[in-house]
Amino acid sequence: MNDLSLYNSLTRRKEVFTPIDGSHVRMYACGPTVYNYAHIGNARMAVVFDLFARLLRTLYPKVTYVSNITDIEDKIIAAAEASGETVETITRRYAGIYNSDMAALGVREPDFQPRATETIPEMLNLIGSLIQQGHAYAAEGHVLFHVPSFANYGGLSGRPRDEQIAGARVEVAPYKRDPADFVLWKPSAPHQPGWDSPWGRGRPGWHIECSAMSEKLLGLPFDVHGGGADLKFPHHENEIAQSCCAHGTEDDLASFAKIWVHNGFLTVEGEKMSKSLGNVILAHDVLKRMPGEAIRYMLLTAHYRQPLDWTEDGLQQSKRTLDRMYQRLRELKGADVPENLAVPETVLEALCDDLNTPRALAALNALVRSDEDPSVLKGRIVAAGGLLGLLQQDPDAWLGYGQADAGDTVDAERIGKLLEERQQARKDRNFARADEIRDQLASEGIAIEDTPQGSQWKKA
Ligand SMILES: [Zn+2]
Repeated sequence: MNDLSLYNSLTRRKEVFTPIDGSHVRMYACGPTVYNYAHIGNARMAVVFDLFARLLRTLYPKVTYVSNITDIEDKIIAAAEASGETVETITRRYAGIYNSDMAALGVREPDFQPRATETIPEMLNLIGSLIQQGHAYAAEGHVLFHVPSFANYGGLSGRPRDEQIAGARVEVAPYKRDPADFVLWKPSAPHQPGWDSPWGRGRPGWHIECSAMSEKLLGLPFDVHGGGADLKFPHHENEIAQSCCAHGTEDDLASFAKIWVHNGFLTVEGEKMSKSLGNVILAHDVLKRMPGEAIRYMLLTAHYRQPLDWTEDGLQQSKRTLDRMYQRLRELKGADVPENLAVPETVLEALCDDLNTPRALAALNALVRSDEDPSVLKGRIVAAGGLLGLLQQDPDAWLGYGQADAGDTVDAERIGKLLEERQQARKDRNFARADEIRDQLASEGIAIEDTPQGSQWKKA
């Protein structure tokens, strides 16, 4: 069996992965806070950890993958107050949209997708235990984690003490014993959602949610904890502090999760993606004009730890690459696919090397171009694609063929180029050229259909 090596953010080195519990791998990744549409940075996280889960399932007999939904948070409450809807209505709606958008990107549902509001008793237990052991204190309806009580605080991010206060130094709440202390529980106003607790009616802080949900569903310690690099501090640092201190294992930062995996940032056309720059790209919007599989391919073109620059060119290129691959599969249509064919070693080996997706995609491209015996080639391409979450559709459907038969001589690549030229012409408002291309293709017996996913063609 292939060794899997992973870069561990906690030890800051690449390690050979060995599951704590021999045959059962347990992984947790921080999921979305659901009050609006997911942007492609969120989508990158979902796709990266979906691929981790697929790889682990290929290597080990049992994998439990948990990724949560944060459905109680100040931003959600603000969104509910702004729209006049209930928090529950908003979170149900956006969790549903998140799941269907991610499914379109080939993201399989995690084994468990716990909601924070369903895990309140476990959070209250953890908070009680932290108070009992002198790591937390109640003050003015709040419960706070006392950071100086945990000598190893900062071990994941490596942040020095004076940088741990992030934002808090501007205005430190009067009830905090130390500016770095963070909220475990906060009071809710009568009109806000809240739960009864020994410290009054209130709601959890964000960090305690993940400590409670991961422990409830996976047990401690578990193997892999993941999330976006932006969560390393303070969110993941605080999860470690809560979970280690609640269980009296504060000398061992790995007693919560053994390996920490963080995916890198995403930029858009070379710039930081931000509301103020107006360049936030929503997965939901891109899906209206592009197949989810092309988005997934694009998100896997960079190594997960590296920054990914999202560009329209890169997206179009990803779509063209998939067109070419599906074209090859279509040519191999007649070949029988043996069942349960092993994933080609070149692809598996690349993924086992800290999920090296650029190398895995290069290996897949080489496979598609190879002149291996068609009777095995098709199965090998489909098996490699199955692991990567690609190439599982009917090639005819992907390429937009209607009832094209095996002896077809249609040149998909040339038509694809003409369609792109037509799309650009329409964008440039050069409708004369756009119509000319349509007429030219029509004379060749090719019909164009403009759909929400973009222009498609098929034999008329
Ligand atoms: Zn989390």
